[in-house]
Amino acid sequence: MESRLEDEESEVTCIICRHGETTPGAVTVSLQRGDTTVILKGVPADVCANCGEYYLSEEVTSRVMERAEAAVTSGAEVEILRFAA
Ligand SMILES: [Zn+2]
Repeated sequence: MESRLEDEESEVTCIICRHGETTPGAVTVSLQRGDTTVILKGVPADVCANCGEYYLSEEVTSRVMERAEAAVTSGAEVEILRFAA
């Protein structure tokens, strides 16, 4: 594992295209778990201005996973949710 400083608040360069800078925005995240598809709208993320790749914070990722697990447990085939901060 490469260690890197995570607490630098300045612009982050996209690791996918290595070109664009990420800016805060909201994205739609879709996850597939078995037969269940979970679509979460309005998820806060840092979005690359160049290629559109998005990066979720650890906190947001764990919330997204919680919502996904709840949808899987409920047995829905497709669950469309709005991410509440
Ligand atoms: Zn990019």
